[in-house]
Amino acid sequence: MTELALRLAAVHQEIEAAASRAKRDPAEVTLIAVSKRKPAADVVSAYEAGARHFGENYVQELVDKAPQVGPRPELVWHYIGHLQRNKANALLAVEGLGLVHGVDGSKLLRALDKRTTSPLGVLLQVNLAGEASKSGCTPEALGELVAEARACEHLELRGLMTMPPPVDDPEDVRPFFRQLRELRERHDAGPELSMGMSSDFGVAIEEGATIVRVGTAIFGARA
Ligand SMILES: *Cc1c(COP(=O)(O)O)cnc(C)c1O
Repeated sequence: MTELALRLAAVHQEIEAAASRAKRDPAEVTLIAVSKRKPAADVVSAYEAGARHFGENYVQELVDKAPQVGPRPELVWHYIGHLQRNKANALLAVEGLGLVHGVDGSKLLRALDKRTTSPLGVLLQVNLAGEASKSGCTPEALGELVAEARACEHLELRGLMTMPPPVDDPEDVRPFFRQLRELRERHDAGPELSMGMSSDFGVAIEEGATIVRVGTAIFGARA
């Protein structure tokens, strides 16, 4: 096995362990391999090792990388970064685009709804700690945004996404993950909870994550 395949296998093992701790079926958890700032060749290696979902943060990087990887059976791209409205067309043209994770405002919802004709799955991003450096709507604004997403003709509200503040101990992010799950229940915001990264995806799964976004633990540190 290649080093990358070994790391991917270790991540899958931890997903299974976390699911078992929470008495959940590991098949309920989708792993997104976050390939930002990694070459197309790494995506291909991860695909060959069994990864099917890939996450990118920058529209231009995804637009360049997707054709290099090529269309492949079951391969799905997730856009997990902050999306500027003027990049929506470029993003929507990417072959194999699955969910758009970082939707956080009504203008962006409307821009996506206007520009897409086939149903597009979106996740609403919530900024739980009110960090100025991060996008996402406030928990207070979520109810209205959920209603607006539901009213969009071509968008399908699939759930919520969050990126908690960086902490030393993954246990410290547990309350944020729990809060996102409660928000989803309160607002009936769709089936998915996209939360958990390399340092804390086990905790996220214990708290109900259905999608984890893991970069470093699969591809190694980014330059
Ligand atoms: C980079 C990134 C990740 C992956 O982070 P790692 O710590 O490398 O696992 C997950 N989600 C988002 C939104 C990111 O930008």
